[in-house]
Amino acid sequence: MKSTLRKSDFEEIYRLLDTVSPLDCDCGTLCGAACCTKGDDPEMGIYLLPGEEKLFDRDEDWLEWSTERAEDYDFPDSWRGAVHFIRCKTPPVCPREKRPIQCRSFPLLPHLSGDGELSLVYNDFETPYRCPLIEEEIPLNDDFVSVTLEAWRRLIQDPLIYDLVRMDSKAREEDIMELAEKLGR
Ligand code: SF4
Ligand code: SF4
Repeated sequence: MKSTLRKSDFEEIYRLLDTVSPLDCDCGTLCGAACCTKGDDPEMGIYLLPGEEKLFDRDEDWLEWSTERAEDYDFPDSWRGAVHFIRCKTPPVCPREKRPIQCRSFPLLPHLSGDGELSLVYNDFETPYRCPLIEEEIPLNDDFVSVTLEAWRRLIQDPLIYDLVRMDSKAREEDIMELAEKLGR
């Protein structure tokens, strides 16, 4: 898949996100780094955004790679061809500056409304672990929230990433409407 973001764009976004953290302390100490170990589910991996693979040389000894066809998974119709998945071999230990966007953004996700407004929401995808930051609504650092929003603002300049964020957001909006209907509101 052809990303319009260059390697240097991703490097800049990584650098930006390197400056922030959800909490002042290591939140992994609250849960045994649950989102890294993923409940020991060997099937759980992290997909890279289109173009993000440019930041890796694929012989990192802490990563296992697999490549799948976007058409075989629940990705936007505009996604065609290779999607890269990684699994960490030594979680939660990894070179911090190399963590992919998915890890850096968690527990937040981008949400793009129909009129193009970008915001962040708590991760609402089903996971085999529980994140105390979400469950206990522990306040996140303001700079983490604002820098993560800025990072996604830059990322959605790429049409493929835009399509992914909008697809997930639309599904979220539909779920909320369905629930509201069930509740008779
Ligand atoms: S983001 Fe949540 S699940 Fe992941 S290490 Fe922090 S508290 Fe644990
Ligand atoms: S890349 Fe690092 S932060 Fe992300 S899941 Fe793997 S070990 Fe955890």
